[in-house]
Amino acid sequence: MIRLTQLSLPLDHPESVLRQAILERLSLRDEELLDYTVFKRSYDARKKNTEITYVYIIHLSTQDDGAVLARFKDDSQVIPAPDTQYYPVALAPASLTERPVVIGFGPCGLFAALILAQMGFKPIVLERGRNVRQRTQDTWALWRKHQLSPESNVQYGEGGAGLFSDGKLYSQVKDPKFYGRKVMQEFVKAGAPDNIMYVSKPHIGTFRLTSVVAKMRAEIIELGGEIRFESRVTDLIIDAGQIRGVELADGTQIPSNHVVLALGHSARDTFRMLYRKQVFIEPKPFAIGFRIEHPQSMIDTARLGKYAGHEALGAADYKLIHHAKNGRAVYSFCMCPGGQVVAATSEEGRVVTNGMSQYSRKERNANAGIVVGIEPEKDFPGSPLAGIELQEKLEAIAYQLGGCDYSAPAQLVGDFIKGRPSTTLGEVIPSYQPGVKLCDLAEALPDYVIEAIREALPAFGKKIRGFDREDAVLTGIESRTSSPIRITRDANSLQSLNVRGLYPAGEGAGYAGGILSAGIDGIKVAEALALDIMSQSGAE
Ligand code: FAD
Repeated sequence: MIRLTQLSLPLDHPESVLRQAILERLSLRDEELLDYTVFKRSYDARKKNTEITYVYIIHLSTQDDGAVLARFKDDSQVIPAPDTQYYPVALAPASLTERPVVIGFGPCGLFAALILAQMGFKPIVLERGRNVRQRTQDTWALWRKHQLSPESNVQYGEGGAGLFSDGKLYSQVKDPKFYGRKVMQEFVKAGAPDNIMYVSKPHIGTFRLTSVVAKMRAEIIELGGEIRFESRVTDLIIDAGQIRGVELADGTQIPSNHVVLALGHSARDTFRMLYRKQVFIEPKPFAIGFRIEHPQSMIDTARLGKYAGHEALGAADYKLIHHAKNGRAVYSFCMCPGGQVVAATSEEGRVVTNGMSQYSRKERNANAGIVVGIEPEKDFPGSPLAGIELQEKLEAIAYQLGGCDYSAPAQLVGDFIKGRPSTTLGEVIPSYQPGVKLCDLAEALPDYVIEAIREALPAFGKKIRGFDREDAVLTGIESRTSSPIRITRDANSLQSLNVRGLYPAGEGAGYAGGILSAGIDGIKVAEALALDIMSQSGAE
């Protein structure tokens, strides 16, 4: 198999042109090209006002790959294709009685459980929230009726925190074993659009993700796994540094020597339990800020020029960073093209924002977090739990500023920069449900954060025309950008530093920062756990 990179074609090219382009690039006759697949397709928008082109990575086979590779041995764009297939690391012996436990059924727990089940390990998944269908109703009750269900919401329940999301499926993590492709293949098998396998910035969108997750649950059960919803883990059973099982809120104990902790970043009560049990945890940096909204058409024009609105490109995204004079980095986070800002709290009396979209990304506004990085030593020193305490304090202030009914505090960008409270909206209508209350957002976050964002917005306006327009809307607060703690694990065994058999994983443990990276981390811990069981059982 051969990999051909940097193959550039016009945006509107017909399908047949691709084959012809491969033949021409490699000087092949038609019959010599046996097969090809698109491994990746991105677009090059550097010349957005003259020509945007597709750029392909192709995997292909010919009648004589060796001869083609030899002919192009000095051409770095024609190389042997890597093997991207997934191979299970173990197969559970039929006699195995131990069942691994997976706590949490977000992307990390989902993939840990799926891989374990596919290897025959029959995991028991414990998820505090409810199944997709019920959880959707509970979440909409907050968005439509101001009613929060503390155990079933945007953060908790089947599918985890990313269920109601843009479903962006890309990440910066190094992935030499191509686990990311395994994640994508499983999503496609469960009904996600095929193009997520090759487009450079794939996304599923919230509605499709819900049915995908339900299908993956069915596969785990079919393979002998078990999924228990409304099963909150409240205690770990640890004996002489070895995990022996877990206890649920109703007192049920489930024995196991292998437990995956895939908690997500919002399980503050569970983090506190881990701290009490002296499981090794440490504070880590995260970011806080606001969510910003603009008309999507404005972002499209700035990013895609005359191609704005082109069907093949869809709604445009952006990524921005500014280094402020006070030493803080301000950056865009979780940008959702054509989407909406959502209420993302899991706790009573708190307000948190995030963003989501449908697969079509056809909503009027673009939104993104505009956040400032904060660090334990400087900004929340002391206990490993100090970051959580800071989040709780800020989210409670946001609740107060929003009027104490889960509405979010909001302000126009022009007023925010000038330091005066907003009283009326302009053209940009905020999408946050159950609603916003205009105010002065300077009261919502520490001064150094406000100062840095005030400086960054005009700087962003120089990169994306209109970004700092007077009537763009800021909604607060964005406080759950990543976990404020790391549940540190050993780099080889992937087990907790001081509790054997315990596998901290995913975003809550500080080892992932999105759906894809959480899924990849779930695969990694499933493999490490399976190999550990095999070594203990003496099986090959
Ligand atoms: P989570 O998804 O948080 O899952 C953890 C699960 O553990 C939860 O279901 C929770 O109920 C359960 N749990 C916690 N404590 C316990 C306990 N004690 N007992 C039992 N169960 C427990 N990322 C992207 O890559 N792309 C996006 O477009 C995107 N959009 C997002 C939009 C929103 C609104 C939100 C909130 C997040 C978004 N993210 C996105 C982030 C992404 O969702 C997370 O990075 C990802 O879900 C982390 O996966 P995880 O499995 O580690 O944790």
